[in-house]
Amino acid sequence: MQKPILDNYGRPTTKLRITLTHKCNYKCIYCHMEGEETKEEVEMTPEEIERLVSIAVQLGISKIKLTGGEPLLREDLSEIIRRISKIKGIEDIAITTNGSLLKKLAAELAEAGLMRLNVNLPTIDPNTYRRITCVDRRPEEIIEGILKCKNAGISPIKVNMVILKGINDNEISKMMKFTRENGLILQLIELEKVGIDEKIYRKYYFKLDEIERELEKKAVKIIIRRDMQNRRRFRLADGTEVEIVRPYENGSFCQACTRIRLTADGKLKPCLMRNDNLVDILTPLRLGAEDTELKKIFIEAIKRREPYWKLKDTFSKCSI
Ligand code: SAM
Repeated sequence: MQKPILDNYGRPTTKLRITLTHKCNYKCIYCHMEGEETKEEVEMTPEEIERLVSIAVQLGISKIKLTGGEPLLREDLSEIIRRISKIKGIEDIAITTNGSLLKKLAAELAEAGLMRLNVNLPTIDPNTYRRITCVDRRPEEIIEGILKCKNAGISPIKVNMVILKGINDNEISKMMKFTRENGLILQLIELEKVGIDEKIYRKYYFKLDEIERELEKKAVKIIIRRDMQNRRRFRLADGTEVEIVRPYENGSFCQACTRIRLTADGKLKPCLMRNDNLVDILTPLRLGAEDTELKKIFIEAIKRREPYWKLKDTFSKCSI
């Protein structure tokens, strides 16, 4: 097993987050589009994705997350998962989805090798769901899909709840109950100021500090996810599991970031928050580059990784 490459701040790179498409059947009011600016409709083929993942594995990356747009809209999604899961050295394949097509695809995805799932479900109230997602679907449909995935053996399943002031911040207890009763992990996510209108951000940003302090008091166990941006997961006495994702101005989050991204149009993206340091890898691949050249390109992108929010005195550039 290849040891992960360190960036210039001594952080290992073990995860690759791949945007499979920019197409989406939702219009969530907060969507950051994975920080991607290009609207070009270029998409990578399953063979290209497989090749790039196998290069990543040779550099010590072992965990893959597939995202979008809406990844479930890709008709070849199962093929992509199947190809990735066959690559030696891959330990984890997860997907993040709005869940709208899960009911139909759960068994097929599990069979293809999907291990974990994140489902964007910011509310279980039908009216609030419509208000946030701007589509006319019922949360029950999404829940049915989630439960089908659970029955198909996909685990753990996390429910992504981006908290929006005045919209769903009053639903946290309800969502805790819902996730506990269904054996899911609730992920409370602070709204990020990426890809969204400044006005939307100012209107809906809800700081999670206080919620985190309350959870801290109630928790019987606190797990610090050192490979996951130092996120904290709280286990309560009744079995509820809640994870807090609080990246904003959080140096500790960036300090423990182990992720690099691959955009829908095949550019390595060292940070969600930036688009000025992308490295195109798809064009050289399509022009016939050998693995050694692609590896060099990948390493260059890893070396461009930098903590966006810096912890005072914590980061000093390493000479590696
Ligand atoms: N369509 C898929 C989905 O709904 O999960 C994948 C793409 S979406 C950009 C990935 C995840 O990013 C969502 O599940 C949501 O929780 C999170 N997200 C989107 N916009 C965000 C924002 N402005 N701040 C924080 N999290 C956000």
